Amino acid sequence: MPTPREERERLEEEILSPHAAKSAQSRGRERPEPPCPTRTAFQRDRDRIIHCKAFRRLSHKTQVFIAPEADHYRTRLTHTLEVAQIARTIARTLALNEDLSEAIAVAHDLGHTPFGHAGQRALNDCMRPYGGFEHNLQSLRVVDVLEEKYAEFDGLNLTFETREGILKRCPRGKAEQLGELGLRFLNGGQPSLEAQLTNLADEIAYNNHDIDDGLRAGLLTLDQLLEVPIFRQHYESVAGRHRSLSQRRLAYETVRGMIGAQVTDLVETSRGRLLATAPASIEDVRRNAAVLIAFSEPMRTSLKALKDFLMSNLYRHYRVMRMSSKADRVVRDLFAAFMGDPRLLPTSTQSAALACRDDATRAQVIADYVAGMTDRYAIAEYGRIFTPGVLT
Ligand code: MG
Repeated sequence: MPTPREERERLEEEILSPHAAKSAQSRGRERPEPPCPTRTAFQRDRDRIIHCKAFRRLSHKTQVFIAPEADHYRTRLTHTLEVAQIARTIARTLALNEDLSEAIAVAHDLGHTPFGHAGQRALNDCMRPYGGFEHNLQSLRVVDVLEEKYAEFDGLNLTFETREGILKRCPRGKAEQLGELGLRFLNGGQPSLEAQLTNLADEIAYNNHDIDDGLRAGLLTLDQLLEVPIFRQHYESVAGRHRSLSQRRLAYETVRGMIGAQVTDLVETSRGRLLATAPASIEDVRRNAAVLIAFSEPMRTSLKALKDFLMSNLYRHYRVMRMSSKADRVVRDLFAAFMGDPRLLPTSTQSAALACRDDATRAQVIADYVAGMTDRYAIAEYGRIFTPGVLT
Protein backbone atom coordinates (compact mmCIF):
# COMPACT_ATOMS: atom_id res chain seq x y z
CA MET A 1 0.00 0.00 0.00
CA PRO A 2 1.47 3.38 -0.93
CA THR A 3 1.60 5.95 1.88
CA PRO A 4 -0.47 9.16 1.55
CA ARG A 5 2.79 10.96 0.71
CA GLU A 6 3.60 8.50 -2.07
CA GLU A 7 0.05 8.92 -3.38
CA ARG A 8 0.51 12.68 -3.42
CA GLU A 9 3.86 12.37 -5.17
CA ARG A 10 2.28 10.18 -7.81
CA LEU A 11 -0.50 12.73 -8.25
CA GLU A 12 2.09 15.51 -8.72
CA GLU A 13 3.62 13.50 -11.59
CA GLU A 14 0.19 13.16 -13.12
CA ILE A 15 -1.23 16.68 -12.81
CA LEU A 16 1.73 19.09 -12.66
CA SER A 17 3.54 20.52 -15.68
CA PRO A 18 6.82 18.91 -16.68
CA HIS A 19 8.61 22.10 -15.63
CA ALA A 20 6.99 22.22 -12.15
CA ALA A 21 8.97 21.37 -9.00
CA LYS A 22 8.11 17.80 -7.97
CA SER A 23 8.45 17.01 -4.30
CA ALA A 24 9.75 13.49 -4.98
CA GLN A 25 12.60 15.00 -7.01
CA SER A 26 13.60 17.63 -4.46
CA ARG A 27 17.33 18.22 -4.12
CA GLY A 28 16.67 17.46 -0.48
CA ARG A 29 17.65 18.87 2.89
CA GLU A 30 21.08 19.86 4.21
CA ARG A 31 20.74 17.12 6.83
CA PRO A 32 18.97 14.11 5.28
CA GLU A 33 15.84 12.97 7.14
CA PRO A 34 13.49 10.04 6.60
CA PRO A 35 10.44 11.15 4.57
CA CYS A 36 7.15 11.87 6.34
CA PRO A 37 4.48 9.19 5.73
CA THR A 38 1.67 11.72 5.28
CA ARG A 39 3.12 14.90 3.78
CA THR A 40 5.33 15.67 0.81
CA ALA A 41 8.66 17.38 1.41
CA PHE A 42 7.23 20.81 0.48
CA GLN A 43 4.11 20.37 2.62
CA ARG A 44 6.39 19.50 5.52
CA ASP A 45 8.45 22.65 4.88
CA ARG A 46 5.30 24.77 4.97
CA ASP A 47 4.22 23.20 8.26
CA ARG A 48 7.65 23.69 9.85
CA ILE A 49 7.55 27.38 8.93
CA ILE A 50 4.04 27.91 10.27
CA HIS A 51 5.02 26.31 13.59
CA CYS A 52 8.17 28.42 14.06
CA LYS A 53 8.58 31.37 16.41
CA ALA A 54 9.56 33.88 13.74
CA PHE A 55 6.26 33.14 11.97
CA ARG A 56 4.21 34.02 15.05
CA ARG A 57 6.10 37.29 15.39
CA LEU A 58 4.82 38.37 11.97
CA SER A 59 1.52 39.27 13.61
CA HIS A 60 3.20 42.17 15.41
CA LYS A 61 5.43 43.43 12.62
CA THR A 62 4.28 45.98 10.07
CA GLN A 63 5.35 47.33 6.75
CA VAL A 64 4.04 50.89 6.44
CA PHE A 65 2.19 51.65 9.68
CA ILE A 66 4.09 51.18 12.92
CA ALA A 67 2.37 49.06 15.58
CA PRO A 68 -1.07 50.32 14.45
CA GLU A 69 -3.68 50.59 17.17
CA ALA A 70 -6.60 49.97 14.83
CA ASP A 71 -7.68 46.41 14.13
CA HIS A 72 -7.98 46.40 10.36
CA TYR A 73 -4.54 47.27 9.02
CA ARG A 74 -2.38 44.59 7.48
CA THR A 75 0.36 43.11 9.57
CA ARG A 76 3.18 41.06 8.09
CA LEU A 77 1.20 37.99 9.05
CA THR A 78 -1.95 38.95 7.15
CA HIS A 79 0.25 40.18 4.28
CA THR A 80 1.96 36.78 4.26
CA LEU A 81 -1.39 34.98 4.14
CA GLU A 82 -2.50 37.17 1.22
CA VAL A 83 0.74 36.38 -0.63
CA ALA A 84 0.23 32.66 0.03
CA GLN A 85 -3.34 32.82 -1.29
CA ILE A 86 -2.36 34.66 -4.48
CA ALA A 87 0.68 32.43 -5.03
CA ARG A 88 -1.37 29.26 -4.65
CA THR A 89 -3.98 30.50 -7.11
CA ILE A 90 -1.32 31.29 -9.71
CA ALA A 91 0.53 28.02 -9.10
CA ARG A 92 -2.63 25.94 -9.42
CA THR A 93 -3.72 27.73 -12.59
CA LEU A 94 -0.34 27.11 -14.23
CA ALA A 95 -0.19 23.47 -13.02
CA LEU A 96 2.81 24.28 -10.85
CA ASN A 97 3.50 23.07 -7.33
CA GLU A 98 1.05 24.85 -5.05
CA ASP A 99 2.65 23.43 -1.89
CA LEU A 100 6.10 24.76 -2.77
CA SER A 101 4.69 28.20 -3.58
CA GLU A 102 2.88 28.23 -0.28
CA ALA A 103 6.00 27.21 1.66
CA ILE A 104 8.00 30.01 0.01
CA ALA A 105 5.21 32.52 0.64
CA VAL A 106 4.85 31.76 4.34
CA ALA A 107 8.62 32.12 4.80
CA HIS A 108 9.28 35.11 2.56
CA ASP A 109 9.08 37.84 5.24
CA LEU A 110 10.43 35.96 8.28
CA GLY A 111 13.65 38.00 8.32
CA HIS A 112 12.01 41.41 8.33
CA THR A 113 13.10 43.84 11.02
CA PRO A 114 10.54 45.67 13.13
CA PHE A 115 9.07 48.77 11.43
CA GLY A 116 9.33 47.52 7.84
CA HIS A 117 11.61 49.28 5.41
CA ALA A 118 12.64 52.02 7.82
CA GLY A 119 13.89 49.38 10.26
CA GLN A 120 15.68 47.50 7.49
CA ARG A 121 17.46 50.66 6.29
CA ALA A 122 18.57 51.58 9.80
CA LEU A 123 19.86 48.09 10.63
CA ASN A 124 21.63 47.90 7.29
CA ASP A 125 23.42 51.16 8.11
CA CYS A 126 24.39 49.90 11.57
CA MET A 127 25.73 46.68 10.05
CA ARG A 128 27.58 48.35 7.16
CA PRO A 129 31.04 47.92 8.73
CA TYR A 130 30.26 44.19 9.18
CA GLY A 131 28.84 43.33 5.77
CA GLY A 132 25.39 44.97 5.98
CA PHE A 133 21.93 43.61 6.73
CA GLU A 134 19.38 42.46 4.19
CA HIS A 135 15.96 41.12 5.23
CA ASN A 136 15.83 38.59 2.43
CA LEU A 137 19.10 36.97 3.50
CA GLN A 138 17.88 37.21 7.08
CA SER A 139 14.77 35.18 6.20
CA LEU A 140 17.12 32.44 5.02
CA ARG A 141 19.18 32.82 8.20
CA VAL A 142 16.02 32.36 10.30
CA VAL A 143 15.16 29.03 8.64
CA ASP A 144 18.77 27.84 8.31
CA VAL A 145 20.24 28.84 11.66
CA LEU A 146 18.22 30.92 14.09
CA GLU A 147 15.18 28.81 14.89
CA GLU A 148 15.94 26.50 17.82
CA LYS A 149 13.26 23.82 17.85
CA TYR A 150 14.67 20.53 16.73
CA ALA A 151 16.87 18.09 18.57
CA GLU A 152 19.01 17.15 15.59
CA PHE A 153 19.74 20.50 13.98
CA ASP A 154 19.58 24.29 14.19
CA GLY A 155 17.07 25.99 11.92
CA LEU A 156 14.23 24.16 10.18
CA ASN A 157 16.28 22.03 7.78
CA LEU A 158 14.08 22.96 4.80
CA THR A 159 14.41 21.57 1.28
CA PHE A 160 16.69 23.20 -1.27
CA GLU A 161 13.67 24.39 -3.30
CA THR A 162 12.05 26.31 -0.45
CA ARG A 163 15.38 27.90 0.51
CA GLU A 164 16.04 28.75 -3.14
CA GLY A 165 12.67 30.51 -3.28
CA ILE A 166 13.30 32.50 -0.10
CA LEU A 167 16.54 33.89 -1.49
CA LYS A 168 15.37 36.46 -4.02
CA ARG A 169 18.51 38.58 -4.08
CA CYS A 170 22.05 38.01 -2.94
CA PRO A 171 25.27 39.98 -3.30
CA ARG A 172 28.24 38.07 -4.76
CA GLY A 173 30.20 38.03 -1.52
CA LYS A 174 27.37 36.30 0.35
CA ALA A 175 26.52 34.04 -2.60
CA GLU A 176 30.05 32.63 -2.48
CA GLN A 177 29.41 31.46 1.08
CA LEU A 178 26.11 29.75 0.27
CA GLY A 179 27.35 26.79 -1.78
CA GLU A 180 24.86 25.36 -4.26
CA LEU A 181 22.20 27.84 -3.18
CA GLY A 182 24.35 30.84 -4.13
CA LEU A 183 25.37 29.55 -7.57
CA ARG A 184 22.65 31.27 -9.58
CA PHE A 185 23.80 34.67 -8.31
CA LEU A 186 27.34 33.90 -9.47
CA ASN A 187 26.67 32.11 -12.77
CA GLY A 188 23.29 33.54 -13.81
CA GLY A 189 20.13 31.45 -14.01
CA GLN A 190 16.75 31.50 -12.35
CA PRO A 191 14.98 29.84 -9.44
CA SER A 192 11.98 27.50 -9.88
CA LEU A 193 8.79 28.86 -11.45
CA GLU A 194 7.15 28.49 -8.03
CA ALA A 195 9.75 30.91 -6.60
CA GLN A 196 9.31 33.32 -9.50
CA LEU A 197 5.54 33.46 -9.14
CA THR A 198 5.61 33.85 -5.35
CA ASN A 199 7.90 36.85 -5.76
CA LEU A 200 5.30 38.52 -7.99
CA ALA A 201 2.42 37.44 -5.74
CA ASP A 202 4.19 39.45 -3.01
CA GLU A 203 4.15 42.50 -5.27
CA ILE A 204 0.47 42.05 -6.16
CA ALA A 205 -0.42 41.73 -2.48
CA TYR A 206 1.38 44.80 -1.18
CA ASN A 207 0.59 47.19 -4.05
CA ASN A 208 -3.08 46.50 -3.59
CA HIS A 209 -3.36 46.26 0.17
CA ASP A 210 -1.34 49.45 0.62
CA ILE A 211 -4.04 51.28 -1.36
CA ASP A 212 -6.67 49.85 0.97
CA ASP A 213 -4.71 50.61 4.17
CA GLY A 214 -3.74 54.08 2.86
CA LEU A 215 -7.40 54.92 2.26
CA ARG A 216 -8.40 53.58 5.66
CA ALA A 217 -5.74 55.69 7.37
CA GLY A 218 -6.87 58.80 5.50
CA LEU A 219 -3.38 59.19 3.99
CA LEU A 220 -4.76 58.64 0.49
CA THR A 221 -8.02 59.96 -0.94
CA LEU A 222 -10.14 58.53 -3.72
CA ASP A 223 -9.62 61.72 -5.72
CA GLN A 224 -5.87 61.24 -5.57
CA LEU A 225 -6.13 57.58 -6.52
CA LEU A 226 -8.23 58.42 -9.56
CA GLU A 227 -5.05 59.95 -11.04
CA VAL A 228 -3.65 56.41 -11.26
CA PRO A 229 -4.79 54.88 -14.57
CA ILE A 230 -5.19 51.26 -13.39
CA PHE A 231 -7.18 52.38 -10.34
CA ARG A 232 -9.35 54.73 -12.41
CA GLN A 233 -10.11 52.07 -15.00
CA HIS A 234 -11.36 49.57 -12.41
CA TYR A 235 -13.10 52.24 -10.36
CA GLU A 236 -15.08 53.47 -13.35
CA SER A 237 -16.03 49.97 -14.32
CA VAL A 238 -17.36 49.23 -10.79
CA ALA A 239 -19.08 52.63 -10.47
CA GLY A 240 -20.75 52.10 -13.85
CA ARG A 241 -22.19 48.75 -12.76
CA HIS A 242 -23.18 49.79 -9.22
CA ARG A 243 -24.53 53.31 -9.14
CA SER A 244 -25.49 53.63 -5.47
CA LEU A 245 -22.57 51.86 -3.82
CA SER A 246 -20.89 53.42 -0.77
CA GLN A 247 -17.40 54.86 -1.32
CA ARG A 248 -15.95 52.21 0.96
CA ARG A 249 -17.38 49.32 -1.03
CA LEU A 250 -16.52 51.00 -4.30
CA ALA A 251 -12.89 51.10 -3.18
CA TYR A 252 -12.97 47.44 -2.10
CA GLU A 253 -14.48 46.37 -5.41
CA THR A 254 -11.89 48.42 -7.26
CA VAL A 255 -8.97 46.81 -5.43
CA ARG A 256 -10.57 43.40 -5.90
CA GLY A 257 -10.83 44.02 -9.64
CA MET A 258 -7.21 45.18 -9.76
CA ILE A 259 -5.94 42.04 -8.02
CA GLY A 260 -7.95 39.86 -10.38
CA ALA A 261 -6.63 41.71 -13.43
CA GLN A 262 -3.02 41.41 -12.28
CA VAL A 263 -3.33 37.70 -11.56
CA THR A 264 -5.00 37.06 -14.94
CA ASP A 265 -2.36 39.11 -16.76
CA LEU A 266 0.44 37.27 -14.97
CA VAL A 267 -1.04 33.85 -15.74
CA GLU A 268 -1.63 34.65 -19.42
CA THR A 269 1.76 36.27 -20.00
CA SER A 270 3.58 33.45 -18.22
CA ARG A 271 1.61 30.78 -20.08
CA GLY A 272 2.72 32.41 -23.35
CA ARG A 273 6.35 32.50 -22.28
CA LEU A 274 6.25 28.89 -21.09
CA LEU A 275 4.73 27.78 -24.39
CA ALA A 276 7.36 29.66 -26.36
CA THR A 277 10.30 28.44 -24.27
CA ALA A 278 8.93 24.97 -23.48
CA PRO A 279 11.25 24.11 -20.61
CA ALA A 280 11.28 20.31 -20.25
CA SER A 281 12.09 20.31 -16.55
CA ILE A 282 12.81 22.45 -13.51
CA GLU A 283 16.51 22.25 -14.47
CA ASP A 284 15.67 23.85 -17.84
CA VAL A 285 13.85 26.61 -15.93
CA ARG A 286 16.91 27.16 -13.74
CA ARG A 287 19.24 27.33 -16.73
CA ASN A 288 17.08 29.91 -18.49
CA ALA A 289 18.61 33.38 -18.53
CA ALA A 290 15.21 35.13 -18.36
CA VAL A 291 12.35 34.87 -15.89
CA LEU A 292 9.41 32.98 -17.36
CA ILE A 293 6.81 34.20 -14.88
CA ALA A 294 6.09 37.83 -15.70
CA PHE A 295 3.50 40.55 -16.26
CA SER A 296 2.81 41.82 -19.77
CA GLU A 297 4.51 45.05 -20.83
CA PRO A 298 1.31 47.15 -20.56
CA MET A 299 0.65 45.77 -17.05
CA ARG A 300 4.23 46.53 -16.03
CA THR A 301 3.73 50.12 -17.16
CA SER A 302 0.47 50.37 -15.19
CA LEU A 303 2.07 48.93 -12.08
CA LYS A 304 5.05 51.27 -12.38
CA ALA A 305 2.65 54.24 -12.34
CA LEU A 306 0.88 52.78 -9.30
CA LYS A 307 4.16 52.22 -7.44
CA ASP A 308 5.37 55.73 -8.23
CA PHE A 309 2.07 57.07 -6.93
CA LEU A 310 2.33 55.07 -3.69
CA MET A 311 5.93 56.17 -3.24
CA SER A 312 5.19 59.89 -3.44
CA ASN A 313 1.75 59.91 -1.81
CA LEU A 314 1.82 57.14 0.76
CA TYR A 315 5.36 56.06 1.67
CA ARG A 316 6.53 59.69 1.71
CA HIS A 317 3.43 61.10 3.39
CA TYR A 318 4.57 63.22 6.32
CA ARG A 319 2.77 60.98 8.81
CA VAL A 320 4.56 57.91 7.42
CA MET A 321 7.86 59.85 7.40
CA ARG A 322 7.35 60.65 11.09
CA MET A 323 6.79 56.96 11.86
CA SER A 324 9.85 56.02 9.78
CA SER A 325 12.01 58.56 11.53
CA LYS A 326 10.99 57.23 14.95
CA ALA A 327 11.63 53.69 13.74
CA ASP A 328 15.05 54.68 12.47
CA ARG A 329 15.97 56.18 15.83
CA VAL A 330 14.73 53.18 17.83
CA VAL A 331 16.68 50.67 15.74
CA ARG A 332 19.91 52.71 15.62
CA ASP A 333 19.86 53.55 19.31
CA LEU A 334 19.13 49.98 20.38
CA PHE A 335 21.89 48.60 18.17
CA ALA A 336 24.41 51.18 19.39
CA ALA A 337 23.50 50.62 23.05
CA PHE A 338 23.94 46.84 22.77
CA MET A 339 27.17 47.12 20.77
CA GLY A 340 28.49 49.65 23.30
CA ASP A 341 27.61 47.44 26.25
CA PRO A 342 26.49 43.85 25.60
CA ARG A 343 25.69 43.52 29.32
CA LEU A 344 22.41 45.36 28.56
CA LEU A 345 21.26 42.36 26.52
CA PRO A 346 18.92 39.78 28.07
CA THR A 347 20.69 36.70 29.43
CA SER A 348 20.79 34.22 26.56
CA THR A 349 21.62 36.80 23.88
CA GLN A 350 24.15 38.34 26.26
CA SER A 351 26.05 35.07 26.72
CA ALA A 352 26.17 34.64 22.95
CA ALA A 353 27.39 38.24 22.46
CA LEU A 354 30.01 38.04 25.20
CA ALA A 355 31.35 34.76 23.81
CA CYS A 356 32.12 36.43 20.44
CA ARG A 357 35.79 36.96 19.73
CA ASP A 358 35.39 39.91 17.39
CA ASP A 359 33.10 42.87 16.73
CA ALA A 360 31.73 41.46 13.46
CA THR A 361 30.44 38.28 15.12
CA ARG A 362 29.04 40.26 18.05
CA ALA A 363 27.34 42.69 15.65
CA GLN A 364 25.66 39.70 13.94
CA VAL A 365 24.31 38.40 17.27
CA ILE A 366 22.93 41.86 18.06
CA ALA A 367 21.50 42.30 14.55
CA ASP A 368 19.74 38.93 14.90
CA TYR A 369 18.27 40.07 18.23
CA VAL A 370 17.13 43.47 16.91
CA ALA A 371 15.82 42.05 13.61
CA GLY A 372 13.79 39.45 15.48
CA MET A 373 11.91 42.09 17.49
CA THR A 374 8.28 42.91 16.79
CA ASP A 375 7.35 46.60 16.56
CA ARG A 376 5.87 46.62 20.04
CA TYR A 377 8.79 44.72 21.57
CA ALA A 378 11.29 47.16 20.04
CA ILE A 379 9.31 50.13 21.37
CA ALA A 380 9.14 48.58 24.85
CA GLU A 381 12.84 47.66 24.78
CA TYR A 382 13.68 51.23 23.76
CA GLY A 383 11.75 52.50 26.79
CA ARG A 384 13.47 50.01 29.11
CA ILE A 385 16.92 51.05 27.91
CA PHE A 386 16.56 54.81 27.47
CA THR A 387 13.64 56.14 29.50
CA PRO A 388 14.24 56.77 33.20
CA GLY A 389 11.26 55.59 35.21
CA VAL A 390 10.35 52.76 32.81
CA LEU A 391 10.78 49.44 34.58
CA THR A 392 13.68 47.45 33.18
MG1 MG B 1 6.33 40.55 1.44
